[in-house]
Amino acid sequence: MSKNVRVRFAPSPTGPLHIGGVRTALFNYLFAKKHNGTFVLRIEDTDQNRYVEGAEKYIVDALNWCNIPFDEGPGKNEKFGPYKQSERKHLYKQYAEQLIVSDNAYYAFDTAETLDAKRKEYEANKQTFIYNWHNRLELSNSLSLSAEEVQAKLDNGDDYVIRFKSPQDQTLRLKDIIRGDIKIDTNVLDDKVLFKSDGMPTYHLANIVDDHLMEISHVIRGEEWLPSLALHMQLYTAFGWEAPEFAHLPLILKPTGKGKLSKRDGDKLGFPVFPLEYTSPDGDVSKGYKEEGYFADAVINFLAFLGWNPGTEQEIFNLDELIEAFDLKNVSKSGGKFSPDKIKWFNHHYMQEQSDDELAEAFQANRSELKSIDTSYIAMVVALVKERATFVNDFWDLSSFFFVAPESFDEKASKKAFKDETKDLMTQLVSIVSAIEDFEVETLQTEIKGWITGNDIGFGKVMMPLRLALVGALQGPDVFDIMYMIGKAETVKRIEKVISVL
Ligand code: GLU
Repeated sequence: MSKNVRVRFAPSPTGPLHIGGVRTALFNYLFAKKHNGTFVLRIEDTDQNRYVEGAEKYIVDALNWCNIPFDEGPGKNEKFGPYKQSERKHLYKQYAEQLIVSDNAYYAFDTAETLDAKRKEYEANKQTFIYNWHNRLELSNSLSLSAEEVQAKLDNGDDYVIRFKSPQDQTLRLKDIIRGDIKIDTNVLDDKVLFKSDGMPTYHLANIVDDHLMEISHVIRGEEWLPSLALHMQLYTAFGWEAPEFAHLPLILKPTGKGKLSKRDGDKLGFPVFPLEYTSPDGDVSKGYKEEGYFADAVINFLAFLGWNPGTEQEIFNLDELIEAFDLKNVSKSGGKFSPDKIKWFNHHYMQEQSDDELAEAFQANRSELKSIDTSYIAMVVALVKERATFVNDFWDLSSFFFVAPESFDEKASKKAFKDETKDLMTQLVSIVSAIEDFEVETLQTEIKGWITGNDIGFGKVMMPLRLALVGALQGPDVFDIMYMIGKAETVKRIEKVISVL
């Protein structure tokens, strides 16, 4: 890539960043890093009505947790700053006026009531009202009114908007890296509002002006912005600026059925749609991947595959490998289905990659019962059970018996394991176990198995009640590992407890 790559993630702080937004940020990040470029964060907060307190901090925290921090943005390397549109407010008016001077835009004074009445009139005729070349001369604007009338309205302080003057009878040829060539007939486009008399630009104007001023080379954003591409390209032409290249990412689809993934799907199927837990200003709490026990690596690996694939069978990619492999050419046009099971599968994988010590620390922080237990012991337990865990949260259920004796014995298992001869066998076992000096896994195995085979007892008759004694259920890792871990005294105690209930 010959030009200097500068991409931006440009969320509006209207609430917590949705997992789809994280995917957009990730693809921008990967593209930037792949081409030694810069990943910019710009906060698009021109719509003050939809501004949500705390949303900006949430966005920054989420990117940091995902390990995809921005290079430039609010409070960081502010070369092209400020990076918040509300702080750039003074910049936009001159650009809107420039478009009026070049006859690419015009003032419009129509009131909300007039426009509403027009809309209804069209609807009554089964038509859609589009404000553009075919009716703009019948409306109240600087194209239909005389220069004096316009000036009088402006002097009078009448409310106005500045609209883009969309051309008639033209075919626009647009390019998208993912979608190829797109043809648009300008006759279907409306004269979009660029600026309002309250001094605020709309998304379209601010977005184009900022992408230009911030020297953005590639715009990578969600498919929902594809309909804006025609206007954006026309704005670049009208300003006489070189346009960035565009790539519109496919939608993220619901796990089942049709349509875009929504927060409601998450609520219904019980999975988070946000990277971090979020408490709304009115106190509603939404689950986050982080708090639910997902590893950032797993979330990122999973998100990378929503709409992209490397063209090979490989599924496991750490962040560096993703940067290496990422190519916008391998992003598909069709939507990627969100699979809650797949993200768990990734989490299970990344869990196995973590060291036992790291996991032990997380496990210890998670359970008060483990506070005073030696971390190296917890790490040994983790090594024995992590294969069967997806989350650190699963550890306790899989391993509590390494720390505390079972309080009861699973009923169904007891029926299966406790037979007439069990009491006698367990009593013999206590003496065998008590006599073992060298309390190691191998010795335990040799002694106990030797006793079973030597006396023709049958493995199940001993191993089942023994497992119940140690675990409380017919589950868990190898019994000899458990005995070794909890030690001789505790092993004997647990077998004696079984004897006492028989
Ligand atoms: N502010 C827009 C959003 O919320 C940005 C769209 C774009 O990237 O152009 O997604």
